[in-house]
Amino acid sequence: MDLGIKGKRALVCASSKGLGLGCAEALAQAGVNIVMNARTDGPLQEAAQTLRDRFGVEVVAIAADITSEEGRTKVLEAAGEIDILVNNAGGPPPGMWSDWDRDDFISALDANMLTPIALIKALVPAMMDRGWGRVVNITSQSVKAPIPVLGLSNAARAGLTGYVAGTSRQIAPSGVTMNNILPGIHATDRAVSLDTGVSTQQGISMEEARAAREATIPARRYGTRAEFGATCAFLCSQHAGFIVGQNILLDGGATNATL
Ligand code: NAP
Repeated sequence: MDLGIKGKRALVCASSKGLGLGCAEALAQAGVNIVMNARTDGPLQEAAQTLRDRFGVEVVAIAADITSEEGRTKVLEAAGEIDILVNNAGGPPPGMWSDWDRDDFISALDANMLTPIALIKALVPAMMDRGWGRVVNITSQSVKAPIPVLGLSNAARAGLTGYVAGTSRQIAPSGVTMNNILPGIHATDRAVSLDTGVSTQQGISMEEARAAREATIPARRYGTRAEFGATCAFLCSQHAGFIVGQNILLDGGATNATL
């Protein structure tokens, strides 16, 4: 399917690996020029070169912490005119509800709520002026069904979801759509670190930890970054202009709910 977005320009945050990279790859495959970002320059530049070689699009790669004001300024200065914004950053650490103090919540809110909001505020006005734009926020299945050990993530991402629900309706008249994708478990470094935690706690191998988790998912496997990226690219396509303010769950059926 031709997504109809060839020649557009996308900022994909936190995209040297994992789900962000999947989004950058799928958008580049659709002919979109990419501004990529991650904190560590080496893997970021490698990923950028691979995209240029595979898809022949223009790729700008900016090493910066997207959750800091300084990092965002650096990325925005290099980004130029952006038609498509994919918001992403690392997730907060796990813990117990009673462990977290005010500073922990402020860090989680900064990374997973206030950073995407700052980028939306920086880039959406020009999209509205041009009469076309797409915003996709990578959140988590924990927005629909809480993951108790990820209370910081549950809280910050729910806050972003509330903001997006209202804001997406305010910007839609100008031809800018905004939606969230909610990943369940995907085969990325984040999944390796979650499985490592289970393996250590329960004294089982990594393979056993993964198999135990897969058994809880109706699809009986982890998602791939390619599947995730394809969904993101579709939401950014011309065909998705009537999809506004939605929360798209990609979890292999793991969240047991009718709606
Ligand atoms: P990942 O494989 O660990 O990749 C994270 C990417 O983000 C890397 O490119 C990393 O590069 C970059 N990054 C992290 N923090 C950053 C920051 N502050 N500024 C700029 N770049 C940053 O993670 P993932 O699995 O793709 O997860 C992406 C998001 O989805 C996370 O918020 C995660 O919590 C959420 N999520 C993932 C899953 C899953 O199963 N994978 C499920 C639910 C939710 P550097 O380290 O070099 O910065």
